[in-house]
Amino acid sequence: MEKKVCVRFAPSPTGPLHIGGVRTALFNYVYALANGGTFILRFEDTDKDRSEAVFENNIKDGLKWMGIEWDEEYHQSKRADIYKKYLDKLKAKDLIYEHDGGTYFRLPEKNKKIIVDDLIRGKVEFNSQDFDDVVLFKKDGSPTFHFANVVDDIDMNITHVIRGEDHLSNTPKHILLYEALGADVPKFAHIPLILNPDKSKMSKRMVSSGSSRAGDIDFEAYIKAGYLPEAMINFLAQLGWSPPDENDFFTLEELVKMFTLDRVQKAGAVFDIKNLNHINHHYLMEKSLDDYIKLAEPYITHLKGDKDLIEKALKLVQDRAQTLSEIPDLIEYFLKAPKYDGKLLIFKKSSPEQTAKGLDAALKVLEAIDERDWVETKLQQVLDNTVAAEGLLPGDVFWPVRVALSGEEGSPSPTELLAALGKDESIKRIKTAIGKLASSI
Ligand code: GLU
Repeated sequence: MEKKVCVRFAPSPTGPLHIGGVRTALFNYVYALANGGTFILRFEDTDKDRSEAVFENNIKDGLKWMGIEWDEEYHQSKRADIYKKYLDKLKAKDLIYEHDGGTYFRLPEKNKKIIVDDLIRGKVEFNSQDFDDVVLFKKDGSPTFHFANVVDDIDMNITHVIRGEDHLSNTPKHILLYEALGADVPKFAHIPLILNPDKSKMSKRMVSSGSSRAGDIDFEAYIKAGYLPEAMINFLAQLGWSPPDENDFFTLEELVKMFTLDRVQKAGAVFDIKNLNHINHHYLMEKSLDDYIKLAEPYITHLKGDKDLIEKALKLVQDRAQTLSEIPDLIEYFLKAPKYDGKLLIFKKSSPEQTAKGLDAALKVLEAIDERDWVETKLQQVLDNTVAAEGLLPGDVFWPVRVALSGEEGSPSPTELLAALGKDESIKRIKTAIGKLASSI
């Protein structure tokens, strides 16, 4: 009978959760769900000096934020008696010797061919003569990574070891230990390394991208930058795995239905921040305005302004932000008068004179609108009429009005801005623009 699938994510809590770890956890979790299996979180904390509770919490918080739930949780530091028990089995077979305070596993035979039959990489061949005997316990009496890792995989009935490719070279030693302990060797799936766009190994290095701190390997940086869990699931799943159809966006449930290890690639997976931004933008756009406002709130606490105006501003920039941390910059000009160079007011197909004429005309007709009629349709109509009546180009009016209100070339439309800012503030900003234009030409 096939054994029930059991997989694990086995981080060493010697540092914060990193992006590669989240991907490994996600692949294991999704594999467990897809196969009705168990997913274990196992802290490999045998290095007492470097393991810390803060890192454990950071790892758990990151997984929870992603929506990754584990069925069981273990700490290697609490399993000393189990490692002793397994050591005794090797002792009974006379495979152990002590040297310089450490306990060693004698490799059974020299020149033995060991084949790792990997679910992703196929058969990879090693030779035992390329390894030294394996240390199982260190001088301080604590088990090594190799021993605790193998013993736990046996003891926890792990059926599939899904882990980073950097562990592939450890696997032949692990296989020898399984065999010496008389245990079934689990199936291995070594998932590809994550690479920078220049194909170098992704390391502690930041690739700046707007205001987001992406390209960082520290997972918390992505949470802080305002990426959404649904975007991270989508993006990380595709770092080395690809969906069977062209479906770019999928939920965790859909991923579980599609996920198989044979669609994981061997080649390194390039981390493309543009793709992550694109995915995140998609999910931000999908949010209801209420949800979007709630998500934005923690990022804009430092901005002072009327709540109603802030909500109007958020509505207008919802289709622009790629990450939540970009929002403050995007809505700043709604809350305070923008700074810009007066020359920006002049549309590229226009002249300073035409621009001055356009702004003056706009000011006159806008001042005449009653507060109660200050709505987008009416504003659009009045400005359209002004363009026609004055014999101007639309760019002579709409362009400088937009810049006057936002200080930017690309922003929501002038009428959306007028409606959001209200009559008084809009008039004030247009008057400022008229002054700026006069002094810049
Ligand atoms: N503690 C190891 C690591 O963090 C786990 C290796 C494994 O999954 O077997 O890399």
